[in-house]
Amino acid sequence: MALEKLDPAALDPARTIVVATGNAHKLVEIETMLSAALPGMRFVALSQLGDFDDPDETGTTFAENAQIKARAAVEETGFTAVADDSGLMVDALDGEPGVYSARYAGVHGDDAANNAKLLRSLEGVAEPGRTARFVSSIAFIEPDGTVTMGEGFCEGTIGFEGRGSFGFGYDPLFLPEDTPGKTMAELMPEEKNAISHRFHALQDLCAKLRAPEGSLAGSDGSAASGDCR
Ligand code: IMP
Repeated sequence: MALEKLDPAALDPARTIVVATGNAHKLVEIETMLSAALPGMRFVALSQLGDFDDPDETGTTFAENAQIKARAAVEETGFTAVADDSGLMVDALDGEPGVYSARYAGVHGDDAANNAKLLRSLEGVAEPGRTARFVSSIAFIEPDGTVTMGEGFCEGTIGFEGRGSFGFGYDPLFLPEDTPGKTMAELMPEEKNAISHRFHALQDLCAKLRAPEGSLAGSDGSAASGDCR
């Protein structure tokens, strides 16, 4: 789905939140959840405001990388920005692939190679030792530098072979604790969205933005409403 281009000068800085993504699905997911905490705000994707280079993700944690992306979007646009960073942490591999999840096998975004490397790395590791979790960090940064963070997890185990055709990344190998016997790639998108690390991170962020000290909550004069779902 292509996103329409927008003129930044036509947007109200007090009512605009930039989502540092070019992915329409991520924009909708983030907008749906955060609009409960931030009524009256318009969510736009960074790619709708111009062609910006991705900042180097030099952080050593998901939280640092999410902040790098959100801060770059604030600097580029002057608007409040939100960005996420996520990945897989496998206990038997001391938390790898971690922040290198997208390029575990060397080439950024090569899901097949990443999954093959993960299976090789876990050769000889029996079921009880194959625990892992998806992690998502979401940074919400305002133009004055105020940072609000959300974090979420999805616990599970790594299977012995890939199964399922939905989703992306490590989904075919990941068996969520919440859906026994099914890989993440065997879940319908709405089933995944109800248990995913991103869902939990957005809920966490939403709750913090709705709290009385959340500086933008109710900034349009109305009370924040909804239960962050
Ligand atoms: P990103 O931060 O969303 O770009 O994700 C970084 C990498 O983590 C992706 O390229 C995937 O390899 C992995 N990853 C993050 N979220 C998921 C997920 O929901 N399912 C499968 N893999 C994921």
